[in-house]
Order: sequence, then C-alpha cells, then structure tokens
Amino acid sequence: AIIPPTYNFSADDQVADLLKAYLEPQGYQLRKVRLPEKLLAVRSGLAQYGKNNITYVKGMGSFHRPVVFISDFPCEADSWGEPKAIGQCEKCSACMKACPTDAIGSDRFLLHAERCLTFHNERANDFPEWLSPSWHNSLVGCMICQQVCPANKDVAKWIDAGAAFDREETALILNAVSDDRLPKETFAKLKKMDMMEYYDVLGRNLRAFIEQQV
Ligand code: SF4
Ligand code: SF4
Repeated sequence: AIIPPTYNFSADDQVADLLKAYLEPQGYQLRKVRLPEKLLAVRSGLAQYGKNNITYVKGMGSFHRPVVFISDFPCEADSWGEPKAIGQCEKCSACMKACPTDAIGSDRFLLHAERCLTFHNERANDFPEWLSPSWHNSLVGCMICQQVCPANKDVAKWIDAGAAFDREETALILNAVSDDRLPKETFAKLKKMDMMEYYDVLGRNLRAFIEQQV
C-alpha cells in the first residue's frame, strides 16, 4: 500500500537540523510550528495550489511536504502574495474526474474536505456508509488526485520501497495489537515509515485496502 509523501514527518527533523546548523552558530533560533502549511507555502510564493487543493512546487510537483518553521533571523525579502493555482489547472480537470468521492467540486475552488478520503481514513471513527470500500488506495490518505495529475508526470516514479512486513507482523497490525505489544523490529519499521503517528487507524485502513484488492 502506498503512503503519500505528505506523511514523511521525519524529514522535518532533518530539515530543522540543517537550518539550525546554519542559524544557531549566528545566535538565531528556529522552531517548528503547526500553522496552515499549504496556505503559507502558497502565499509566500514557495508553492501554488492545484485544483485538488494540494500544493505544487516547481520540480517536485505535489511530491513534497510543506512544513512551517519560525525564526528570529532578520528577513527583508517579502514575497507575500495572493494564492495562485498552477497553470496546468486551466485546461485540466483530471483530478476532479478521478476523485472517487466528488470532493473536488466545480462549484468552488475549496475542496469539500468532508468528502475527502483522507479526512475519513486519518480518523478512528467508522467510515461513513456512502464511502465505497473500492476507493481505498493508500495506507493512510489518498493518492488518486496526485497520481492522475499531469503536473506530477516527472515525479510520479519517486516512490521508496519502504519496509516489508511478514504475515505475523501484518496480522498484529490488522488486529490493532497495542503498540507496546508489538515486536521491537515491527515497531522500529513502522516508526521509520512515520506510521506510528497513525497506528490507531492503521489496522482498519490496511484491512480495508486488502479487502478491496481480493
Ligand atoms: S489534475 Fe489537472 S486540474 Fe487537477 S491539480 Fe493537476 S493539473 Fe490541476
Ligand atoms: S485525496 Fe482522494 S478523496 Fe481527496 S480529493 Fe484527492 S482523490 Fe479525492
């Protein structure tokens, strides 16, 4: 099962370490904060929106993860501006047609987030009745609108193999065995994949994914 790029949380620490190595010797501080990452990326000119409300960065498509850091480093440049969409969206509606849940509407630019698979499979609640089991495509989140997007054609093959889990490990995850009862190796693999953050929904999501494969 695929894990979308935006769940690569451990990259945040690597980026923070690189930035701190530059800033701290000069007496400046850096802190990671939770703010509306996609909106800030777009308004600060680092990214543009796609019709699927995901951010796109030149050379990376949507295969990146927006993170916000704040610092007391003096900054004179001001690239703040109105949100922009990528040019390809003008003559394209591939994501809209492919989205299984109709979350990308033609009535407005803002995603109908309450219909997005990601909204439902990141939470431990039961899936709503209207959500067809055949729509599950990722361990958590959803990749459909990114996979069909022509703006991702050069990055679509940026896929890491990730870890492999044997039958026993898979059974433990499917049965949602509590994380403190997982074998050390299994825990380490899930942690390395940044999936311990979503361990409470992993078994349910994996089961849904497997069931629609058979
Ligand atoms: S699939 Fe087409 S409409 Fe959707 S974000 Fe990509 S370029 Fe824009
Ligand atoms: S992530 Fe999936 S459900 Fe959400 S808008 Fe994209 S295709 Fe639709």
